[in-house]
Amino acid sequence: MKNKITHIWEKIRQTAVSCGRDPETVKLVAVTKTVPPELIRQAMDAGLRVFGESYIQEASAKIDAIADKNVSWHFIGHLQSNKAKIAVRYFDLIHSVDSLNLAEALNRQAEAIHKIQNILVQVNISGESTKSGTAAEEAIALVNAIRWMENLSVKGLMTIPPFFDQPEKARPYFKALAGLKNQIKNQSPPGNQINELSMGMSGDFEVAIEEGATLVRIGTAIFGERA
Ligand SMILES: *Cc1c(COP(=O)(O)O)cnc(C)c1O
Repeated sequence: MKNKITHIWEKIRQTAVSCGRDPETVKLVAVTKTVPPELIRQAMDAGLRVFGESYIQEASAKIDAIADKNVSWHFIGHLQSNKAKIAVRYFDLIHSVDSLNLAEALNRQAEAIHKIQNILVQVNISGESTKSGTAAEEAIALVNAIRWMENLSVKGLMTIPPFFDQPEKARPYFKALAGLKNQIKNQSPPGNQINELSMGMSGDFEVAIEEGATLVRIGTAIFGERA
């Protein structure tokens, strides 16, 4: 596993440098859904510190088992409003806020524990009916509504493009998300923190970095195929 992680770090670095970006601006989120705590500990020993989980129940049990303050947990899966209370307790960044209803639930639960919850707005940039995420046309309004919620802080956008076996085909979707992020940032008040672009997975993270990704979510390339 150590070799795979080193390889990914090196790819991230090379890709960033080759398109004139500071490699420090690209963070690796190791996706650990279905990965048992023993393997996550090995990944921590290899130097990983940020992990992404998709299922609330599975994640909270694993986070309790690992119980390490030096690790940052991100939630990247579809989140139901009735799980907001658990989500704000366990996660430093929630990538998948896609409705006003969910944002309001997170804001309420974050307030109850005196936390400012960092979030990303998930955008369904391809418009596929099977994908979660807010429609691109509605993303601006959602960010504007969230701006008034005192216990949420919007840090940027996230997307999952359609699956292609040629990563180059995902490029237009990454470009579109980056364009939308810039548009939202430019019409937001000065001093806003809308800087993050969560995009790119095992098969296409290099293209995503070329288009501006700041958070790449990588599972299979580190932990192997999921069962
Ligand atoms: C599972 C998952 C990933 C990781 O995908 P890999 O192809 O295994 O790298 C990234 N993002 C989300 C939202 C996921 O659910």
